Amino acid sequence: MAGDAPRVRFAPSPTGYFHVGSARAALFNWLVARQSGGTLVLRIEDTDGERGREEWVDGIVSALAWLGLEPDEGPYRQSTRGGRYRQATDALWESGHLYACGCTRGEIDARNRAAGIQTPGYDGYCRDLGLPRGEGRALRFRTPHQNQVVVDDVVRGRVEFPGDAIDDFVAVKSSGAPLFVLANVVDDIDMGITHVIRGEDLLPTTPKGILVWKALVSLGWRTEGTVGVEAGSTPGLPVFAHLPLLVNKARKKLSKRRDPVAVESYRHDGYLPDAFVNYLALLGWAPPGGEEHLSREQLVEQFRLGSVNHSPAFFDVAKLTHLNGEYIRAMTIDGFIDACQPWLTGDRAPWPTESFDPDVFDRMAPLVKERVAVLSEVPAMIDFLFVDAPTIDEEEWNTANSSDDTAMVILTRTATVYRSLIQNWDSGALHAATKAIGEEVGWKLGKAQAPIRLAVTGRKVGPPLFESLEVLGPERTLRRLEFAIERHRTARA
Ligand code: GLU
Repeated sequence: MAGDAPRVRFAPSPTGYFHVGSARAALFNWLVARQSGGTLVLRIEDTDGERGREEWVDGIVSALAWLGLEPDEGPYRQSTRGGRYRQATDALWESGHLYACGCTRGEIDARNRAAGIQTPGYDGYCRDLGLPRGEGRALRFRTPHQNQVVVDDVVRGRVEFPGDAIDDFVAVKSSGAPLFVLANVVDDIDMGITHVIRGEDLLPTTPKGILVWKALVSLGWRTEGTVGVEAGSTPGLPVFAHLPLLVNKARKKLSKRRDPVAVESYRHDGYLPDAFVNYLALLGWAPPGGEEHLSREQLVEQFRLGSVNHSPAFFDVAKLTHLNGEYIRAMTIDGFIDACQPWLTGDRAPWPTESFDPDVFDRMAPLVKERVAVLSEVPAMIDFLFVDAPTIDEEEWNTANSSDDTAMVILTRTATVYRSLIQNWDSGALHAATKAIGEEVGWKLGKAQAPIRLAVTGRKVGPPLFESLEVLGPERTLRRLEFAIERHRTARA
Protein backbone atom coordinates (compact mmCIF):
# COMPACT_ATOMS: atom_id res chain seq x y z
CA MET A 1 0.00 0.00 0.00
CA ALA A 2 1.65 3.17 -1.18
CA GLY A 3 1.45 5.82 1.52
CA ASP A 4 -1.70 7.86 1.41
CA ALA A 5 -2.67 7.07 -2.16
CA PRO A 6 -6.39 6.41 -2.52
CA ARG A 7 -7.72 3.00 -3.37
CA VAL A 8 -10.97 3.31 -5.24
CA ARG A 9 -13.16 0.72 -6.82
CA PHE A 10 -15.59 0.29 -9.61
CA ALA A 11 -18.03 -2.42 -8.53
CA PRO A 12 -20.61 -3.19 -11.21
CA SER A 13 -23.16 -5.94 -10.97
CA PRO A 14 -23.13 -7.73 -14.31
CA THR A 15 -26.47 -7.10 -15.96
CA GLY A 16 -25.82 -7.87 -19.61
CA TYR A 17 -25.17 -4.31 -20.72
CA PHE A 18 -23.02 -1.45 -19.52
CA HIS A 19 -25.10 1.50 -18.34
CA VAL A 20 -23.83 5.02 -19.05
CA GLY A 21 -24.23 5.75 -15.33
CA SER A 22 -21.83 2.92 -14.57
CA ALA A 23 -19.42 4.32 -17.12
CA ARG A 24 -19.57 7.72 -15.41
CA ALA A 25 -18.90 6.06 -12.01
CA ALA A 26 -15.98 4.14 -13.51
CA LEU A 27 -14.60 7.36 -14.98
CA PHE A 28 -14.81 9.40 -11.77
CA ASN A 29 -13.08 6.61 -9.86
CA TRP A 30 -10.45 6.35 -12.57
CA LEU A 31 -9.84 10.10 -12.48
CA VAL A 32 -9.36 10.08 -8.71
CA ALA A 33 -6.92 7.18 -9.00
CA ARG A 34 -4.98 8.70 -11.88
CA GLN A 35 -4.61 12.14 -10.39
CA SER A 36 -3.33 10.90 -7.06
CA GLY A 37 -1.15 7.92 -7.87
CA GLY A 38 -3.95 5.78 -6.49
CA THR A 39 -5.28 2.38 -7.46
CA LEU A 40 -8.50 1.51 -9.25
CA VAL A 41 -9.88 -1.88 -8.34
CA LEU A 42 -12.44 -3.60 -10.56
CA ARG A 43 -14.81 -5.75 -8.59
CA ILE A 44 -17.62 -7.74 -10.10
CA GLU A 45 -20.59 -7.92 -7.74
CA ASP A 46 -21.99 -11.18 -8.96
CA THR A 47 -23.44 -12.81 -5.87
CA ASP A 48 -26.87 -13.31 -7.34
CA GLY A 49 -25.73 -16.29 -9.42
CA GLU A 50 -27.32 -15.15 -12.68
CA ARG A 51 -26.45 -17.05 -15.77
CA GLY A 52 -24.52 -15.64 -18.69
CA ARG A 53 -22.26 -13.99 -16.17
CA GLU A 54 -18.89 -14.68 -17.73
CA GLU A 55 -19.98 -13.12 -20.97
CA TRP A 56 -21.29 -10.11 -19.09
CA VAL A 57 -18.04 -9.76 -17.20
CA ASP A 58 -16.20 -9.83 -20.53
CA GLY A 59 -18.57 -7.10 -21.68
CA ILE A 60 -17.64 -4.92 -18.71
CA VAL A 61 -13.92 -5.48 -19.18
CA SER A 62 -14.20 -4.76 -22.88
CA ALA A 63 -16.28 -1.59 -22.36
CA LEU A 64 -13.73 -0.30 -19.85
CA ALA A 65 -10.92 -1.05 -22.29
CA TRP A 66 -12.79 0.76 -25.06
CA LEU A 67 -13.25 3.78 -22.82
CA GLY A 68 -9.57 3.62 -21.85
CA LEU A 69 -10.44 3.22 -18.18
CA GLU A 70 -8.44 0.13 -17.40
CA PRO A 71 -8.35 -0.87 -13.74
CA ASP A 72 -5.09 -1.46 -11.88
CA GLU A 73 -6.40 -4.51 -10.04
CA GLY A 74 -9.03 -7.09 -10.69
CA PRO A 75 -11.49 -8.09 -11.81
CA TYR A 76 -12.15 -9.64 -8.42
CA ARG A 77 -15.35 -11.61 -8.31
CA GLN A 78 -17.66 -11.76 -5.35
CA SER A 79 -18.72 -15.22 -6.49
CA THR A 80 -15.27 -16.51 -5.51
CA ARG A 81 -15.22 -14.89 -2.08
CA GLY A 82 -17.96 -16.85 -0.32
CA GLY A 83 -15.56 -18.06 2.38
CA ARG A 84 -14.77 -14.53 3.40
CA TYR A 85 -18.45 -13.59 3.65
CA ARG A 86 -19.04 -16.65 5.83
CA GLN A 87 -16.24 -15.53 8.16
CA ALA A 88 -17.82 -12.10 8.41
CA THR A 89 -21.22 -13.66 9.01
CA ASP A 90 -19.84 -15.85 11.81
CA ALA A 91 -18.06 -12.92 13.43
CA LEU A 92 -21.16 -10.74 13.30
CA TRP A 93 -23.34 -13.58 14.56
CA GLU A 94 -21.07 -14.44 17.46
CA SER A 95 -20.85 -10.82 18.53
CA GLY A 96 -24.64 -10.48 18.48
CA HIS A 97 -24.81 -8.06 15.54
CA LEU A 98 -26.92 -10.55 13.61
CA TYR A 99 -29.95 -12.47 14.72
CA ALA A 100 -31.94 -15.23 13.05
CA CYS A 101 -35.36 -14.50 11.64
CA GLY A 102 -37.89 -16.92 10.20
CA CYS A 103 -40.56 -14.39 9.25
CA THR A 104 -41.92 -14.52 5.75
CA ARG A 105 -42.65 -11.38 3.74
CA GLY A 106 -46.35 -12.15 4.01
CA GLU A 107 -46.22 -12.41 7.79
CA ILE A 108 -44.34 -9.14 8.10
CA ASP A 109 -46.78 -7.32 5.82
CA ALA A 110 -49.77 -8.73 7.68
CA ARG A 111 -48.39 -7.58 11.03
CA ASN A 112 -47.56 -4.14 9.63
CA ARG A 113 -51.05 -3.82 8.21
CA ALA A 114 -52.64 -4.87 11.46
CA ALA A 115 -50.56 -2.26 13.28
CA GLY A 116 -51.50 0.38 10.72
CA ILE A 117 -47.89 0.78 9.54
CA GLN A 118 -47.61 1.83 5.92
CA THR A 119 -43.88 1.38 5.40
CA PRO A 120 -42.72 -2.06 4.39
CA GLY A 121 -39.92 -2.24 7.00
CA TYR A 122 -39.28 -5.07 9.40
CA ASP A 123 -41.03 -4.83 12.76
CA GLY A 124 -38.33 -6.55 14.79
CA TYR A 125 -40.48 -9.57 15.61
CA CYS A 126 -37.56 -12.02 15.94
CA ARG A 127 -35.06 -9.49 17.27
CA ASP A 128 -35.16 -10.74 20.83
CA LEU A 129 -36.39 -14.29 20.34
CA GLY A 130 -32.91 -15.76 20.41
CA LEU A 131 -33.66 -18.15 17.54
CA PRO A 132 -30.74 -20.34 16.50
CA ARG A 133 -29.28 -20.04 13.02
CA GLY A 134 -30.51 -22.60 10.62
CA GLU A 135 -32.44 -23.69 7.62
CA GLY A 136 -35.14 -21.27 6.55
CA ARG A 137 -33.84 -18.43 8.70
CA ALA A 138 -32.35 -15.27 7.35
CA LEU A 139 -29.88 -13.27 9.42
CA ARG A 140 -30.87 -9.72 10.18
CA PHE A 141 -28.64 -6.93 11.34
CA ARG A 142 -29.50 -5.64 14.79
CA THR A 143 -29.70 -1.93 14.05
CA PRO A 144 -29.08 0.38 17.00
CA HIS A 145 -32.32 2.28 16.49
CA GLN A 146 -31.51 4.95 19.04
CA ASN A 147 -28.60 6.40 17.04
CA GLN A 148 -28.79 8.27 13.81
CA VAL A 149 -26.33 7.34 11.09
CA VAL A 150 -24.59 10.16 9.32
CA VAL A 151 -23.20 9.84 5.82
CA ASP A 152 -20.67 12.60 5.41
CA ASP A 153 -20.76 12.72 1.67
CA VAL A 154 -18.30 14.63 -0.47
CA VAL A 155 -21.04 15.43 -2.99
CA ARG A 156 -24.19 15.53 -0.91
CA GLY A 157 -22.75 16.99 2.27
CA ARG A 158 -23.99 15.68 5.60
CA VAL A 159 -26.91 13.29 5.17
CA GLU A 160 -28.59 12.11 8.35
CA PHE A 161 -30.56 8.90 8.63
CA PRO A 162 -32.52 8.60 11.89
CA GLY A 163 -31.75 5.26 13.54
CA ASP A 164 -35.40 4.27 13.77
CA ALA A 165 -35.75 4.70 10.02
CA ILE A 166 -33.20 1.98 9.38
CA ASP A 167 -34.91 -1.34 9.91
CA ASP A 168 -33.23 -4.57 10.89
CA PHE A 169 -32.24 -5.43 7.34
CA VAL A 170 -31.44 -8.90 6.07
CA ALA A 171 -27.67 -9.26 5.75
CA VAL A 172 -27.60 -12.97 4.94
CA LYS A 173 -30.32 -14.85 3.11
CA SER A 174 -31.80 -18.03 4.57
CA SER A 175 -29.70 -19.90 2.00
CA GLY A 176 -26.57 -18.50 3.65
CA ALA A 177 -25.83 -16.20 0.71
CA PRO A 178 -24.73 -12.69 1.72
CA LEU A 179 -26.78 -9.75 0.55
CA PHE A 180 -25.40 -6.71 -1.23
CA VAL A 181 -24.58 -4.62 1.84
CA LEU A 182 -22.59 -7.32 3.61
CA ALA A 183 -20.59 -8.49 0.60
CA ASN A 184 -19.99 -4.92 -0.53
CA VAL A 185 -18.63 -3.81 2.84
CA VAL A 186 -16.54 -6.92 3.48
CA ASP A 187 -14.94 -6.38 0.08
CA ASP A 188 -14.34 -2.70 0.65
CA ILE A 189 -12.63 -3.49 3.94
CA ASP A 190 -10.59 -6.37 2.54
CA MET A 191 -9.60 -4.45 -0.56
CA GLY A 192 -8.46 -1.46 1.45
CA ILE A 193 -10.92 0.87 -0.24
CA THR A 194 -10.49 4.46 0.87
CA HIS A 195 -13.11 6.18 -1.31
CA VAL A 196 -16.51 4.83 -2.23
CA ILE A 197 -17.54 6.74 -5.35
CA ARG A 198 -20.79 5.51 -6.85
CA GLY A 199 -24.24 6.44 -8.05
CA GLU A 200 -26.72 8.26 -5.85
CA ASP A 201 -29.16 5.37 -6.15
CA LEU A 202 -27.00 3.61 -3.56
CA LEU A 203 -27.15 6.38 -0.99
CA PRO A 204 -30.15 4.83 0.85
CA THR A 205 -28.18 1.64 1.51
CA THR A 206 -25.13 3.53 2.72
CA PRO A 207 -26.21 3.89 6.38
CA LYS A 208 -26.64 0.12 6.49
CA GLY A 209 -23.19 -0.31 5.02
CA ILE A 210 -21.77 2.06 7.60
CA LEU A 211 -23.35 0.04 10.41
CA VAL A 212 -21.86 -3.18 9.06
CA TRP A 213 -18.54 -1.46 8.52
CA LYS A 214 -18.43 -0.14 12.09
CA ALA A 215 -19.46 -3.51 13.49
CA LEU A 216 -16.69 -5.29 11.61
CA VAL A 217 -14.14 -2.66 12.56
CA SER A 218 -15.16 -3.04 16.22
CA LEU A 219 -14.38 -6.75 15.81
CA GLY A 220 -10.89 -6.01 14.65
CA TRP A 221 -11.47 -6.00 10.91
CA ARG A 222 -9.32 -3.33 9.41
CA THR A 223 -9.04 -1.48 6.22
CA GLU A 224 -5.34 -1.72 5.67
CA GLY A 225 -5.22 1.18 3.35
CA THR A 226 -7.40 3.62 5.23
CA VAL A 227 -6.07 7.10 4.75
CA GLY A 228 -6.59 10.26 6.73
CA VAL A 229 -10.31 10.46 6.22
CA GLU A 230 -11.38 13.75 4.68
CA ALA A 231 -15.10 13.42 4.98
CA GLY A 232 -16.00 10.34 7.01
CA SER A 233 -15.84 11.20 10.71
CA THR A 234 -15.41 7.64 11.92
CA PRO A 235 -11.86 6.38 11.66
CA GLY A 236 -11.70 3.50 9.29
CA LEU A 237 -14.70 4.53 7.26
CA PRO A 238 -14.06 5.33 3.63
CA VAL A 239 -14.81 8.68 2.09
CA PHE A 240 -18.22 8.56 0.43
CA ALA A 241 -19.13 10.37 -2.77
CA HIS A 242 -22.53 9.69 -4.30
CA LEU A 243 -22.69 10.91 -7.86
CA PRO A 244 -25.79 12.71 -9.08
CA LEU A 245 -28.54 10.88 -10.87
CA LEU A 246 -28.53 10.89 -14.66
CA VAL A 247 -31.81 12.07 -16.11
CA ASN A 248 -33.33 12.42 -19.57
CA LYS A 249 -34.82 15.47 -21.22
CA ALA A 250 -38.02 15.07 -19.23
CA ARG A 251 -35.86 15.11 -16.07
CA LYS A 252 -36.76 11.48 -15.44
CA LYS A 253 -34.17 9.00 -14.26
CA LEU A 254 -32.56 7.31 -17.27
CA SER A 255 -34.19 3.99 -17.83
CA LYS A 256 -33.25 1.10 -20.00
CA ARG A 257 -36.73 1.00 -21.49
CA ARG A 258 -37.02 4.68 -22.39
CA ASP A 259 -33.52 5.88 -23.04
CA PRO A 260 -30.42 4.75 -24.90
CA VAL A 261 -28.33 3.82 -21.86
CA ALA A 262 -26.08 1.02 -23.09
CA VAL A 263 -22.49 2.11 -23.68
CA GLU A 264 -22.22 -0.71 -26.21
CA SER A 265 -24.79 0.96 -28.44
CA TYR A 266 -22.82 4.22 -28.49
CA ARG A 267 -19.73 2.26 -29.39
CA HIS A 268 -21.63 0.53 -32.14
CA ASP A 269 -22.95 3.84 -33.46
CA GLY A 270 -19.48 5.25 -33.85
CA TYR A 271 -18.98 7.54 -30.90
CA LEU A 272 -15.30 7.98 -30.12
CA PRO A 273 -14.11 6.83 -26.72
CA ASP A 274 -12.31 10.13 -26.05
CA ALA A 275 -15.41 12.16 -26.82
CA PHE A 276 -17.56 9.82 -24.79
CA VAL A 277 -15.24 10.07 -21.79
CA ASN A 278 -15.10 13.85 -22.17
CA TYR A 279 -18.87 14.02 -22.16
CA LEU A 280 -19.26 11.64 -19.21
CA ALA A 281 -16.94 13.85 -17.17
CA LEU A 282 -19.36 16.74 -17.58
CA LEU A 283 -22.23 14.80 -16.03
CA GLY A 284 -22.15 16.34 -12.62
CA TRP A 285 -18.87 18.17 -12.92
CA ALA A 286 -17.49 21.17 -14.79
CA PRO A 287 -13.93 22.44 -14.98
CA PRO A 288 -13.18 25.75 -13.26
CA GLY A 289 -12.81 27.45 -16.64
CA GLY A 290 -16.17 26.11 -17.84
CA GLU A 291 -14.80 24.69 -21.11
CA GLU A 292 -16.45 21.59 -22.49
CA HIS A 293 -13.78 20.10 -24.66
CA LEU A 294 -11.22 18.46 -22.39
CA SER A 295 -8.61 15.85 -23.17
CA ARG A 296 -8.04 12.95 -20.83
CA GLU A 297 -4.92 14.65 -19.51
CA GLN A 298 -6.86 17.82 -18.78
CA LEU A 299 -9.55 15.83 -17.05
CA VAL A 300 -7.02 14.06 -14.86
CA GLU A 301 -5.43 17.37 -14.01
CA GLN A 302 -8.56 19.40 -13.40
CA PHE A 303 -11.13 16.98 -12.04
CA ARG A 304 -11.98 17.40 -8.37
CA LEU A 305 -14.33 15.04 -6.60
CA GLY A 306 -15.14 17.88 -4.22
CA SER A 307 -16.55 20.00 -7.04
CA VAL A 308 -19.03 17.38 -8.22
CA ASN A 309 -22.48 18.89 -8.15
CA HIS A 310 -25.40 17.10 -6.54
CA SER A 311 -28.20 18.16 -8.86
CA PRO A 312 -29.39 15.61 -11.41
CA ALA A 313 -27.32 15.64 -14.59
CA PHE A 314 -29.07 15.69 -17.96
CA PHE A 315 -27.66 13.04 -20.24
CA ASP A 316 -28.05 14.98 -23.45
CA VAL A 317 -27.47 12.74 -26.44
CA ALA A 318 -27.59 15.73 -28.79
CA LYS A 319 -24.79 17.44 -26.90
CA LEU A 320 -22.76 14.25 -26.80
CA THR A 321 -23.25 13.86 -30.54
CA HIS A 322 -22.19 17.44 -31.17
CA LEU A 323 -19.05 16.96 -29.09
CA ASN A 324 -18.34 13.73 -30.93
CA GLY A 325 -18.51 15.60 -34.23
CA GLU A 326 -15.94 18.05 -32.92
CA TYR A 327 -13.66 15.19 -31.97
CA ILE A 328 -14.05 13.64 -35.41
CA ARG A 329 -13.20 16.93 -37.12
CA ALA A 330 -10.11 17.23 -34.93
CA MET A 331 -8.82 13.79 -35.96
CA THR A 332 -5.99 13.32 -38.43
CA ILE A 333 -7.06 11.90 -41.76
CA ASP A 334 -5.20 8.67 -41.07
CA GLY A 335 -6.77 8.38 -37.64
CA PHE A 336 -10.19 8.96 -39.17
CA ILE A 337 -9.65 6.37 -41.89
CA ASP A 338 -8.56 3.83 -39.28
CA ALA A 339 -11.49 4.58 -37.03
CA CYS A 340 -13.93 4.16 -39.92
CA GLN A 341 -12.79 0.65 -40.83
CA PRO A 342 -15.50 -1.26 -38.92
CA TRP A 343 -18.14 0.64 -40.89
CA LEU A 344 -16.48 0.15 -44.26
CA THR A 345 -15.84 -3.55 -44.37
CA GLY A 346 -17.65 -6.54 -42.97
CA ASP A 347 -21.18 -6.81 -41.68
CA ARG A 348 -21.85 -3.17 -41.06
CA ALA A 349 -21.03 -2.00 -44.57
CA PRO A 350 -24.11 -1.53 -46.76
CA TRP A 351 -22.28 -2.60 -49.94
CA PRO A 352 -20.82 -5.95 -51.03
CA THR A 353 -17.34 -6.27 -49.51
CA GLU A 354 -15.70 -6.72 -52.91
CA SER A 355 -17.14 -3.41 -54.17
CA PHE A 356 -15.35 -1.38 -51.55
CA ASP A 357 -12.25 0.41 -52.76
CA PRO A 358 -10.04 1.80 -50.00
CA ASP A 359 -8.31 4.22 -52.38
CA VAL A 360 -11.62 5.76 -53.31
CA PHE A 361 -12.50 6.09 -49.65
CA ASP A 362 -9.15 7.71 -48.89
CA ARG A 363 -9.92 10.39 -51.48
CA MET A 364 -13.30 11.08 -49.93
CA ALA A 365 -12.21 10.84 -46.30
CA PRO A 366 -11.23 14.53 -45.81
CA LEU A 367 -14.63 15.62 -47.12
CA VAL A 368 -16.57 13.10 -45.09
CA LYS A 369 -14.66 13.79 -41.88
CA GLU A 370 -15.98 17.34 -41.80
CA ARG A 371 -19.58 16.25 -42.13
CA VAL A 372 -20.32 13.41 -39.77
CA ALA A 373 -21.08 13.54 -36.07
CA VAL A 374 -20.76 9.80 -35.51
CA LEU A 375 -18.87 7.22 -37.54
CA SER A 376 -21.97 5.21 -38.36
CA GLU A 377 -23.03 8.11 -40.59
CA VAL A 378 -20.05 7.49 -42.84
CA PRO A 379 -21.48 4.72 -45.07
CA ALA A 380 -24.51 6.81 -46.07
CA MET A 381 -22.13 9.57 -47.17
CA ILE A 382 -20.23 7.40 -49.59
CA ASP A 383 -22.38 4.43 -50.46
CA PHE A 384 -23.10 5.91 -53.92
CA LEU A 385 -19.47 5.13 -54.78
CA PHE A 386 -19.69 1.46 -53.94
CA VAL A 387 -23.12 0.38 -55.13
CA ASP A 388 -24.19 -0.23 -58.73
CA ALA A 389 -26.97 2.29 -58.64
CA PRO A 390 -28.21 4.29 -55.69
CA THR A 391 -31.68 3.63 -54.41
CA ILE A 392 -33.65 6.82 -54.57
CA ASP A 393 -36.40 7.12 -52.07
CA GLU A 394 -39.70 7.47 -53.92
CA GLU A 395 -41.01 10.13 -51.62
CA GLU A 396 -37.87 12.23 -51.76
CA TRP A 397 -37.87 11.94 -55.49
CA ASN A 398 -41.47 13.08 -55.73
CA THR A 399 -40.97 16.00 -53.38
CA ALA A 400 -37.88 17.10 -55.23
CA ASN A 401 -39.70 17.06 -58.55
CA SER A 402 -43.18 18.09 -57.60
CA SER A 403 -43.03 21.87 -57.95
CA ASP A 404 -42.32 22.37 -61.63
CA ASP A 405 -40.28 21.03 -64.50
CA THR A 406 -37.15 22.95 -63.62
CA ALA A 407 -35.51 19.97 -61.98
CA MET A 408 -36.02 18.00 -65.17
CA VAL A 409 -34.63 20.83 -67.26
CA ILE A 410 -31.57 20.94 -65.03
CA LEU A 411 -30.98 17.21 -65.24
CA THR A 412 -31.29 17.23 -69.02
CA ARG A 413 -28.96 20.18 -69.43
CA THR A 414 -26.55 18.70 -66.92
CA ALA A 415 -26.35 15.42 -68.79
CA THR A 416 -25.53 17.25 -72.00
CA VAL A 417 -23.01 19.64 -70.50
CA TYR A 418 -21.33 17.02 -68.32
CA ARG A 419 -20.92 14.79 -71.40
CA SER A 420 -18.82 17.52 -72.95
CA LEU A 421 -16.63 17.52 -69.85
CA ILE A 422 -15.64 13.87 -69.96
CA GLN A 423 -12.08 14.76 -70.95
CA ASN A 424 -11.92 17.48 -68.37
CA TRP A 425 -13.63 15.74 -65.46
CA ASP A 426 -12.70 17.65 -62.36
CA SER A 427 -14.67 19.27 -59.59
CA GLY A 428 -13.80 22.81 -60.69
CA ALA A 429 -15.17 22.31 -64.20
CA LEU A 430 -18.27 20.50 -62.91
CA HIS A 431 -18.87 23.28 -60.44
CA ALA A 432 -18.62 26.03 -63.06
CA ALA A 433 -20.83 24.17 -65.50
CA THR A 434 -23.54 23.51 -62.92
CA LYS A 435 -23.49 27.10 -61.76
CA ALA A 436 -24.05 28.23 -65.34
CA ILE A 437 -26.94 25.80 -65.77
CA GLY A 438 -28.47 27.16 -62.59
CA GLU A 439 -28.20 30.69 -63.95
CA GLU A 440 -29.94 29.63 -67.14
CA VAL A 441 -33.00 28.52 -65.18
CA GLY A 442 -32.75 31.18 -62.49
CA TRP A 443 -31.75 28.85 -59.65
CA LYS A 444 -28.88 29.44 -57.24
CA LEU A 445 -26.16 26.82 -57.28
CA GLY A 446 -27.29 25.26 -53.99
CA LYS A 447 -30.76 24.67 -55.35
CA ALA A 448 -29.59 23.59 -58.78
CA GLN A 449 -27.35 20.94 -57.23
CA ALA A 450 -30.17 19.24 -55.41
CA PRO A 451 -31.74 17.24 -58.26
CA ILE A 452 -28.29 16.24 -59.48
CA ARG A 453 -27.28 15.04 -56.03
CA LEU A 454 -30.47 13.06 -55.62
CA ALA A 455 -30.15 11.49 -59.07
CA VAL A 456 -26.50 10.56 -58.70
CA THR A 457 -26.11 9.71 -54.99
CA GLY A 458 -29.66 8.85 -54.02
CA ARG A 459 -29.52 11.29 -51.14
CA LYS A 460 -30.41 14.83 -50.26
CA VAL A 461 -27.24 15.48 -48.28
CA GLY A 462 -23.71 14.27 -48.56
CA PRO A 463 -20.16 15.37 -49.12
CA PRO A 464 -19.51 18.28 -51.52
CA LEU A 465 -21.16 17.32 -54.78
CA PHE A 466 -18.55 18.20 -57.37
CA GLU A 467 -15.71 16.49 -55.54
CA SER A 468 -17.99 13.49 -55.17
CA LEU A 469 -18.74 13.44 -58.90
CA GLU A 470 -15.07 13.76 -59.69
CA VAL A 471 -14.38 10.66 -57.64
CA LEU A 472 -17.40 8.81 -59.03
CA GLY A 473 -16.18 9.46 -62.56
CA PRO A 474 -18.01 10.51 -65.75
CA GLU A 475 -19.33 7.14 -66.78
CA ARG A 476 -21.31 6.35 -63.67
CA THR A 477 -22.39 9.96 -63.20
CA LEU A 478 -23.82 10.16 -66.71
CA ARG A 479 -25.46 6.77 -66.49
CA ARG A 480 -27.26 7.81 -63.31
CA LEU A 481 -28.32 11.16 -64.76
CA GLU A 482 -29.76 9.45 -67.78
CA PHE A 483 -31.53 6.94 -65.65
CA ALA A 484 -33.12 9.75 -63.65
CA ILE A 485 -34.21 11.58 -66.78
CA GLU A 486 -35.79 8.41 -68.04
CA ARG A 487 -37.58 7.91 -64.76
CA HIS A 488 -38.97 11.42 -65.06
CA ARG A 489 -40.22 10.83 -68.56
CA THR A 490 -41.90 7.59 -67.63
CA ALA A 491 -43.56 9.23 -64.66
CA ARG A 492 -44.98 11.93 -66.88
CA ALA A 493 -46.08 9.73 -69.72
N1 GLU B 1 -22.82 -3.36 -7.54
C1 GLU B 1 -23.50 -2.13 -7.32
C2 GLU B 1 -24.25 -1.73 -8.56
O1 GLU B 1 -23.86 -2.10 -9.66
C3 GLU B 1 -22.57 -0.97 -7.01
C4 GLU B 1 -21.90 -1.16 -5.70
C5 GLU B 1 -21.04 0.00 -5.28
O2 GLU B 1 -20.51 0.73 -6.10
O3 GLU B 1 -20.88 0.10 -4.08
O4 GLU B 1 -25.21 -1.03 -8.46
